[in-house]
Amino acid sequence: MCAILEGGASSHKLSYNWAKSSRQIFFKKLNFIVDLLQFKYLVKTRFMKNDIKETIINSFQNPETHPTADELYQALQAKLGEVNKEAFLDELKGLLKTKEVYYVLVPEGTKHYGLKKGAHCHFICEGCGKIKDFRLEEGAQSMLDSYIQKQIHSYGRLKKVNLSAEGVCRECEIT
Ligand SMILES: [Zn+2]
Ligand SMILES: [Zn+2]
Repeated sequence: MCAILEGGASSHKLSYNWAKSSRQIFFKKLNFIVDLLQFKYLVKTRFMKNDIKETIINSFQNPETHPTADELYQALQAKLGEVNKEAFLDELKGLLKTKEVYYVLVPEGTKHYGLKKGAHCHFICEGCGKIKDFRLEEGAQSMLDSYIQKQIHSYGRLKKVNLSAEGVCRECEIT
């Protein structure tokens, strides 16, 4: 009697253990799949992040203009297909933070982005709103700096001059 009972109990225990271990295997597999998906997601977002960053930087180069965030986003989607807007804005924010990119604020308050580079001035087209860079020769720049410093000297100290000129670009002139 005792032996049968014992046998019954142990086979019960066995099936219980088996169920337990198969459950463990199931959860292990599930964890593995979750890990794999997370890993794939990380790899994908990491690649995507790099693609977004690279495409933003390239968008400034040819032709060298100062696109708005919307224009940058459109260029990005044209190149990479569907891109999450949040991810794009995050990347743009990151580039501003690391000072790889800066923006020019035009009178209407729109931000135009550009790659960080040395001192330069901006030509803003009042027709299409495009912004192009131009430089002042060193002599002209220092003359302007000291002239402004003289003008403001009773109430401030000059740190840098953001000069922008407005007009009509050649393309707008033709059309
Ligand atoms: Zn124009
Ligand atoms: Zn510029």
